[in-house]
Amino acid sequence: MDTMLSVLKQYFGFSDFRPYQKDAIQKIIEKRDCLVVMATGSGKSLCYQVPPLVVRKTGIVVSPLISLMQDQRGIKAEYLGSAQKDSTVQRKAEQGQFDILFMTPEKACTVPTSFWSNLLKEGISLFAVDEAHCISEWGHDFRVEYKNLHNLRSVLLDVPFVGLTATATEKVRFDIINSLKLKNPYVLVGSFDRSNLFYGVKPFSRGQSFVDELVQEISKVVSSGSTIIYCTTIKDVEQISKSLAEAGIEAGMYHGQMDKKSREESHRLFVRDELQIMVATIAFGMGIDKPNIRQVIHYGCPKSLECYYQESGRCGRDGIASVCWLYYTRSDFAKGDFYCGDLKTETQKRAVMESLLAAERYCVLATCRRKFLLEHFGEQYPADRCGNCDNCTVSKKERDMSREAFLLMACIHSCKGKWGLNMPVDILRGSRAKKILDAQFDKLPLHGLGKTYAPNWWKALGHQLIAHGYLKETVSDVYRTISVSLKGEQFLASSTPDYQPSLVLSLTAELLG
Ligand code: ADP
Ligand code: ZN
Repeated sequence: MDTMLSVLKQYFGFSDFRPYQKDAIQKIIEKRDCLVVMATGSGKSLCYQVPPLVVRKTGIVVSPLISLMQDQRGIKAEYLGSAQKDSTVQRKAEQGQFDILFMTPEKACTVPTSFWSNLLKEGISLFAVDEAHCISEWGHDFRVEYKNLHNLRSVLLDVPFVGLTATATEKVRFDIINSLKLKNPYVLVGSFDRSNLFYGVKPFSRGQSFVDELVQEISKVVSSGSTIIYCTTIKDVEQISKSLAEAGIEAGMYHGQMDKKSREESHRLFVRDELQIMVATIAFGMGIDKPNIRQVIHYGCPKSLECYYQESGRCGRDGIASVCWLYYTRSDFAKGDFYCGDLKTETQKRAVMESLLAAERYCVLATCRRKFLLEHFGEQYPADRCGNCDNCTVSKKERDMSREAFLLMACIHSCKGKWGLNMPVDILRGSRAKKILDAQFDKLPLHGLGKTYAPNWWKALGHQLIAHGYLKETVSDVYRTISVSLKGEQFLASSTPDYQPSLVLSLTAELLG
């Protein structure tokens, strides 16, 4: 459509649409409901910015973050939030005076029906829900206010509803469609593959030797662009900053307890390239649209792969090769209860536990990281190896682990799916803890047969066996249990205490250690 293109040129100064933008915009203009799932930075906002300008009717955009659009080349945009005292905006809005009206979800649900009926007389081009994953308890950022948005469906009868998000697993997509009551929606899912990003993971233990390694990694890239180091706590931010300073590396700091002025100063220096390195909590990130970030390092595992994908994805926006390293310690994976905090429903708690579990799997994986990441978001990766992650590039030694795998699987089998991985590991290590004696696990012939390896070694083996499909881990309520899969049962069936079929595994850092 010519008007679409002239709107694009006139208001945005771009010469062409990106392929999916054109599709989505066309469908919205035809009043079809849409679900747009595209990576951050792919240009989703244009999908809801263009239709209002083409059909000359207000577009409603629900967004949790009120990042007001700049007054771009004459687009009339305003924001209506619950805290707003001034009623002028609301009055102008209901007269259809704005091209785009941003609203918080609370406001959209509480504004009087007369507001909508008045505005409907002027016409509404679309009702867009940005960050639509917030609707789902399975998402990584559930917000209860989003749950009520569907009530507007019966008010805004003839208005196309559009959900947009940068991260949505299959489950979350399903929830968005159901919760917003999208009718026969046109679903656009872009590729999440950021092929210029290298993904790597390393286990670490807190201490000086780690900081030395980190400093070395950082000094490799400081000349080529900026680096963000994400820490999970403010204490870590302070400690890493201090260590970097001691090593003579200049770095900025950013976290929620700093005053607003210092935060803004840090942000400014970084964006303007006056500061190459930023050590920060995840508070640093909103609205960072800096193209030349060369490296994102995570010091500690994030609580979900959705978070990891978003945070690591801040590097390499310019398409130039960039690096994402994630350093984790085992204790990162024990924070489930902490993350559950004061969550209300079981579903929410389970979602948090499963998200953390997926992040843990990503960390301990011996196969291609990219493939795992993409498949987590429901995208098939066409190859087994990407050639641009640590597991695809580092040639790892392999070893026949049949004996150890047999011991662990047999022990898990004896636990009858009632326990997590710690119990069989403790049994193999010969523990006489009360829970073991109570369950009479000390009587098992396997008890104490695995003393030669440390608990973490056995856990690492357990994770490899999960990754290879011999074991399966399930989250029930907030507990995880481990059991032997069909493939594992077959392995056990063809094994005896003296003979096991060959089972060769890659020696990950943890299995070597
Ligand atoms: P998202 O909402 O998906 O994270 P944005 O809408 O913020 O992405 O867009 C990311 C960047 O891409 C912005 O700088 C935007 O101006 C630019 N952009 C979007 N569409 C186009 C286009 N058709 N041509 C050129 N640049 C575009
Ligand atoms: Zn790979």
